[in-house]
Amino acid sequence: MEYVLETHNLEKKYGRFKALDGVNLQIPKGAIYGLIGRNGAGKTTLIRIICGLQKPISGAYKLYGVFNDRKEIVTSRKRIGAIIETPSICLDMTAEENLKEQYKVMGNPSYDGIEELLKLVELDKTGKKTAKHFSLGMKQRLGIAIALAGNPDLLILDEPINGLDPEGIIEIRELILKLNKEKGITFLISSHYLDELSKIATCYGIIEKGKIVKEISSKELENNFKKKVQINVKNIKECVRYLEEEKIPYKVISEDTIDIYKNVNVSELVIELSKRNCTINSFKEKEETLENYFLNLVGGEDNV
Ligand code: ATP
Repeated sequence: MEYVLETHNLEKKYGRFKALDGVNLQIPKGAIYGLIGRNGAGKTTLIRIICGLQKPISGAYKLYGVFNDRKEIVTSRKRIGAIIETPSICLDMTAEENLKEQYKVMGNPSYDGIEELLKLVELDKTGKKTAKHFSLGMKQRLGIAIALAGNPDLLILDEPINGLDPEGIIEIRELILKLNKEKGITFLISSHYLDELSKIATCYGIIEKGKIVKEISSKELENNFKKKVQINVKNIKECVRYLEEEKIPYKVISEDTIDIYKNVNVSELVIELSKRNCTINSFKEKEETLENYFLNLVGGEDNV
């Protein structure tokens, strides 16, 4: 597999506090890599290091095949576009003026491509409207257009949907998918919105206390998601006896509720249990979420 970014035991300290404690991750080319962690886990620090805004105290990373201590890393970094925390846009300028400014900063001699970029992020009809009158979603899309101005192969988005309304979230989701599918851009996205992230990510890195505790592809994760059926029964003792006899994995939730971790044939279950004078009052199928997976892995109920 070809990786656009590989990190090896990256460490970073702020004073005596270790914000990164040996981070190892690998981002495959073409992936949408979801970086998940609680507040303070080290996501932004890691992103800032990869973008060259901070230096690790030890460890290394390889970006497009170039180690960070090589002078060619500067060229590799030009292949990155990033929005860290808030998009860097000028509120008194229109979308077009913002992009022109970015082109100037990058030393780009012509404005070719700006119209196409504005169309791509659906801001081509905003005319003279300055960015201060944009919705948060429009500002975020303008930020992405600015990050795309250097034609990056890897786009890093730190919390891209924070504060957005449902419509804004869908627009960003569709834009990310479009850029990934049509332009082949690889993404590194940190987000607290696990449900939303799970709609687009192709793999995940779970970071806890400055360490990647798990890297997993969305396919592996899907197989990991245990399907369960929750049933509400009368005479739970008999039900438990039956499940034990049949070696069906289960968990008693309350005095009349049980989770069954197997693709059970419900009508068969109803028949078998009724023979034992045990009636099923109700049942529902449940699927584990990315959030549950995360919490099971890192423990606790804290904010993700
Ligand atoms: P959040 O989701 O809250 O942004 P994060 O996972 O991005 O969290 P970081 O911002 O990387 O976490 O911070 C990691 C840890 O390092 C936190 O405990 C934070 O308080 C600490 N930290 C970050 N920047 C500094 C700094 N400049 N000086 C001292 N400590 C810092």
